Amino acid sequence: MSEFSSKLNRWYLKNARDLPWRQTKDPYKIWISEIMLQQTTVAAVIPFYERWVKVFPVVQHVAKAPLQKILKAWQGLGYYSRARNIQKAAKLIVKNFKGKIPSDQEALKTLPGFGPYTIGAVSSIAFDKRVPIIDANVRRVVMRYLALEGFADTSYDTEILKFLDKVMPQKGNNVFNQAMMELGALVCLSRSPACMFCPVNVGCEAYKQGRQEVIPQSKKKEIKEINVAIALIEKDKKYFIQRRPKGGLFADLWEFPGGKIEKGETPKQALFREIKEELGIELGSAEPLMNVTQFYTEFKANLHVFRCESAQVLSENSTRKWVPRQKFSDYPMPSGSVKIVKKLFL
Ligand code: SF4
Repeated sequence: MSEFSSKLNRWYLKNARDLPWRQTKDPYKIWISEIMLQQTTVAAVIPFYERWVKVFPVVQHVAKAPLQKILKAWQGLGYYSRARNIQKAAKLIVKNFKGKIPSDQEALKTLPGFGPYTIGAVSSIAFDKRVPIIDANVRRVVMRYLALEGFADTSYDTEILKFLDKVMPQKGNNVFNQAMMELGALVCLSRSPACMFCPVNVGCEAYKQGRQEVIPQSKKKEIKEINVAIALIEKDKKYFIQRRPKGGLFADLWEFPGGKIEKGETPKQALFREIKEELGIELGSAEPLMNVTQFYTEFKANLHVFRCESAQVLSENSTRKWVPRQKFSDYPMPSGSVKIVKKLFL
């Protein structure tokens, strides 16, 4: 074992957080946790992970569940295509691999949603294969350790993989890969890394040069802002919701009707126009009810919600429903709509 990995290993065994997916060697559960961890922070993932493995304790349950149940369990995590890919992969695992996640990397490559990171994570953590992996934490640690100047994008990944391959042990890579990620998450933080407590600080070039705060360089991300008018159409204590089309943003999720407020429009004007375009009906009345702000990965949405009555009949079909408040929990929704429901009824 290299000096780097033995120091890292010792540190990890003492300091690793006790996370639910670290208490198992079940490749299915490790796979689910890794996909969820690509979405958000460890703290945010824990309740999602625990709920998921309770609802779908084995891969066969995922394979045969209705899509709506899968999306509901994923609700709030974003990037719903990942949830859909989990189900597509689960179906293939049942069909082609007798319900067992394959340990072979070539076989894993045939599964939807299994990119190099997920393959590496499942192979090393569940099957202890010697496969280095790069996530944002690992990339930052190695860029600093080698003092690689630049942004934390994929430009240095070949060099980073070479380094990992050199220092990773012949056996015990389930620990090595997790330890690298944990070091980035707990010590080699993007802001104010705690170098004094770092197990590998002696060999770290950025630390030697006092450049750990400026490597990697940070990019300013501009968040787009959109304004949306939303109609809460009520009739006989039921509310009208519709399913978003397949393939686009929030595909297959349910939401209240409405749409983007164009330049020069008031929220109310946009509301009447959108409802006419989307549902082909005229609204009878629309009173402002509340404003809700929701941050998504790529944009911020200001939702202007109106309580409305329809002047015409709105009938149900497979993508349009009248739903009583007690039944909203059956429908997977984007976070903005979930916020509206919570503000209204909870
Ligand atoms: S010494 Fe500091 S910069 Fe270098 S790897 Fe450790 S925490 Fe990161």
